[in-house]
Amino acid sequence: MKEVKVHDRHFVQYLGASQIQNRVEEIAAQINEEYEGKDILFIGVLNGAFMFASDLLQNINIPCEITFVKMASYQSTQTTGNVEQLLGLRESIEGRHVVIIEDIVDTGLTMSRALADLSKQNPASLAVATLLFKKECLKENVPLKYIGFEIPDRFVVGYGLDYDAQGRNLRDIYQLKDD
Ligand code: 5GP
Repeated sequence: MKEVKVHDRHFVQYLGASQIQNRVEEIAAQINEEYEGKDILFIGVLNGAFMFASDLLQNINIPCEITFVKMASYQSTQTTGNVEQLLGLRESIEGRHVVIIEDIVDTGLTMSRALADLSKQNPASLAVATLLFKKECLKENVPLKYIGFEIPDRFVVGYGLDYDAQGRNLRDIYQLKDD
């Protein structure tokens, strides 16, 4: 098994590049079929989704646009915790078919926040494509239309996902190794 070291931690390969590519192609094929005759606006969530968005879009063969947003956390005055806010969307999504591209859904809080923000702007439809889904961690009920892989509750890096800002460049996805 391939292993990598990112900063001070060891990671072991969990999903290989070709396995990821095959699944990304399957999801793209499903989107091509289900959105035929509709224009799609893809919204990629930076930074983590950049590789998934790139590979997915290269396999989309129906009319589409892509734009990117960031989720930035701020201290809410209404709640005790940090709240995520969607930044950088310039396009109007009213009446458009929107597909959000995300790297990973863990508790679902980030995605539910993004969906709440976007649904206020009256898109024709709103769907989520996430490459990874930690099903057992889900706290918010978020509708995920396309899921690449359901994975266990273990920290992963690679293919866009970072560990303390590094590891995004890896072609495979690696899981934190037991110490
Ligand atoms: P959620 O709001 O669903 O709990 O968290 C989603 C965000 O947490 C993701 O966009 C990602 O930034 C981060 N995250 C959750 N699990 C992992 C993981 O295993 N590896 C990495 N690199 N980030 C993760």
